[in-house]
Amino acid sequence: MAAPGTSSPSTPEAAGAVSGGAGREPKKLPELIRLKRDGGHLSEADIRDFVQAVMDGSAQDTQIGAMLMAIRLQGMDPEETSVLTQALADSGQQLEWPKAWHQQLVDKHSTGGVGDKVSLVLAPALAACGCKVPMISGRGLGHTGGTLDKLESIPGFNVTQSPEQILRLLEEVGCCIVGQSKKLVPADGILYAARDVTATVDSVPLITASILSKKVVEGLSTLVVDVKFGGAAVFPDQEQARELANTLVRAGVGLGLRVAAALTAMDSPLGRSVGHTLEVEEALLCLDGAGPPDLRDLVLRLGGAILWLNGQAETQDQGVARVAAALDDGSALRRFQLMLSAQGVEPGLARALCSGSPAQRRQLLPHAREQEELLAPADGTVENVLALPLARVLHELGAGRSRAGQPIRPGVGAELLVDVGQWLYRGTPWIRVHLDGPALSDQQRRALQGALVLSDRAPFKAPSPFAELVLPPTVVQP
Ligand code: URA
Repeated sequence: MAAPGTSSPSTPEAAGAVSGGAGREPKKLPELIRLKRDGGHLSEADIRDFVQAVMDGSAQDTQIGAMLMAIRLQGMDPEETSVLTQALADSGQQLEWPKAWHQQLVDKHSTGGVGDKVSLVLAPALAACGCKVPMISGRGLGHTGGTLDKLESIPGFNVTQSPEQILRLLEEVGCCIVGQSKKLVPADGILYAARDVTATVDSVPLITASILSKKVVEGLSTLVVDVKFGGAAVFPDQEQARELANTLVRAGVGLGLRVAAALTAMDSPLGRSVGHTLEVEEALLCLDGAGPPDLRDLVLRLGGAILWLNGQAETQDQGVARVAAALDDGSALRRFQLMLSAQGVEPGLARALCSGSPAQRRQLLPHAREQEELLAPADGTVENVLALPLARVLHELGAGRSRAGQPIRPGVGAELLVDVGQWLYRGTPWIRVHLDGPALSDQQRRALQGALVLSDRAPFKAPSPFAELVLPPTVVQP
């Protein structure tokens, strides 16, 4: 029988749900790969056979990579995408909740950005607004940072929680942030890591299935996906990002999920900090009711949309006001502290982190040994700080992985000392790089200096990263 709070254990019977069914000769993997490679349609049985082979280890890494590349190049139609999503979800356990929670279960997920620490703030803020947030999050993918890696930079934080522990976390705290595991969407874990090293991240059906499979397992009432576009997003072009947003929303409808997608700009980093511990510090600032305006703006807009879509606020503006109040009155920060202790952080450390000054917090988290500041090479208005070259240099310095499972250096990162739109004099420090190994090479220094885009126009107020909200067909934008 399923454990309390779960169903569909990952047993051979559940594997039956993954596999294409009995009494049928499954196609061999090379045949399935060839079919997709040549633009054919994979049936439900084909897709479930592939996922089953991924799960039981009979698929070789090369075959997984080849299938992912075939899907990346040939795409999948909506039916194939839905079947893949469901098959990934069925590869592990389904989370189940008390009936009374059904209208409270919400989540947010991002397609990946640079400096994006929104989840660290939004999960506890939504819990403080009366929601239940069982967030199954991801690790760094490509040049983008991962929520789980950021949280693991806090000593003791444990992202691996069983379905029973997740149920308890939601009862006691209202939110948790966990990773996929052997019990939770394990097939997505395998494909996610394979995509990272096979240049198959930027695929609409693969992103859709990866994100929504985790959300199907969460049994949500409402999900908002933050779909990034711009120079440091998976899809630089807003039109392509809109295609992904539309696919996520439509596939959500097919799977019985209320999904909306926010299109948000990802050209410059979100906030002023990039790198794991530096981002935790900045998330804490936002939870103090302060922090950089672009980060707070995105937290409020995404949170406001979730509360409105889930019927917990009459308008998006009311939703925004509720999330803002949770940040300003300390209730979101208290939930964050509870979540830290409930997920393994020593309670004294959780308290000190949440009540300390920024300087005290810095002492409590692992930090890099060296810092180097770079100076503005000319006078000008900061037109942009290009997130992609910055993220690539930090990746090289140890903030990201080159192979699955590789350890990262949590203290490596960068603090931006300037805001987009401000005037900058030549010789002023504009970035502080935190280093845990050798000094920056000349090439890295040049790449970073190339990320600072100056212009001679007058200083301006940086626009909000939030561009538009793509809604499911039954919801009308007010
Ligand atoms: N987040 C995920 O979980 N999967 C993706 O493919 C991209 C972002």
